[in-house]
Amino acid sequence: MYPFSYVKATSLKEAGEFLAAHTDAKLLAGGMTLIPTLKARLAQPSHLVDIGGLKELRGIELKDGELRIGAATQHHEVAVSSVVRQALPALAYLAGLIGDPQVRNLGTIGGSVANNDPAADYPAALLGLAATVLTTRREIPAGDFFQGMFATALAPGEIVVRIAFPVPKRAAYAKFPHPASGYAMAGVFVAETANGVRVAVTGAGPGVFRWQEAEAALKKNMSPAALDGLTVNAEDLNEDMHATREYRANLVKVMARRAVAQLAGS
Ligand SMILES: Cc1cc2nc3c(=O)[nH]c(=O)nc-3n(C[C@H](O)[C@H](O)[C@H](O)COP(=O)(O)OP(=O)(O)OC[C@H]3O[C@@H](n4cnc5c(N)ncnc54)[C@H](O)[C@@H]3O)c2cc1C
Repeated sequence: MYPFSYVKATSLKEAGEFLAAHTDAKLLAGGMTLIPTLKARLAQPSHLVDIGGLKELRGIELKDGELRIGAATQHHEVAVSSVVRQALPALAYLAGLIGDPQVRNLGTIGGSVANNDPAADYPAALLGLAATVLTTRREIPAGDFFQGMFATALAPGEIVVRIAFPVPKRAAYAKFPHPASGYAMAGVFVAETANGVRVAVTGAGPGVFRWQEAEAALKKNMSPAALDGLTVNAEDLNEDMHATREYRANLVKVMARRAVAQLAGS
């Protein structure tokens, strides 16, 4: 680890001002991704600005048909929240699948979406539900926010404050986890929203994406059988020591079928 200074922010404004004045400073939320990155000497920030305890970034609220979750809300809180379980049970279920108890108790939704790991779970829910990322500067639709592997629309110094999820008619998530880390080898979020069916895929490609052929098929027939004739184009998918791209393409279809089967039963 390279040396750095630690700063505990007392307000969102203070954190923003600090970042503006120190361009090599980095935000610290749960530290579940950032601390291992620092340990491996893959980043060299001048300061870590701890926003994990900021009240302005916490809380779960259902208002005007939207579920709003503060950026510093830990995965475990989302998983066990009675508000989330009632309004959007698929999101509570997804949060409960992330990593292990330590990761779920420290890792935050804001840290996860800002990091945009291609195998993270939340990006599938954000894209599948057409959520909005509210930052210190603007509101960014999920479709514009995620920009490929570890890349987002966030500008330097911009802080994720809250995620707003429109409550769907129904939704479901199915994931094939990597046996060691729990990250998604393929995870598929299916939602029936006021604006139609959405299918978002994580883990399989270099970033979260919508599977539009599946959306069109499910619009006509919301059943696992509707996906039978479809194939996922393996060309653009990830290949590594854990799985070939063809295997991942098949996993996407299997996970999509499972999510739709859950949805049909919900
Ligand atoms: C063993 C292990 C298993 C895991 N398994 C899974 C899994 O199955 N599924 C999954 O989805 N994830 C998994 N994760 C990742 C986990 O969900 C992390 O919690 C998450 O990626 C980062 O959240 P964090 O709060 O710890 O962020 P940090 O590590 O503190 O920060 C991550 C990055 O986001 C930035 N950041 C943090 N908060 C904000 C904010 N509010 N605004 C702007 N930028 C911000 C930081 O500067 C940093 O660049 C796993 C992690 C580990 C260590």
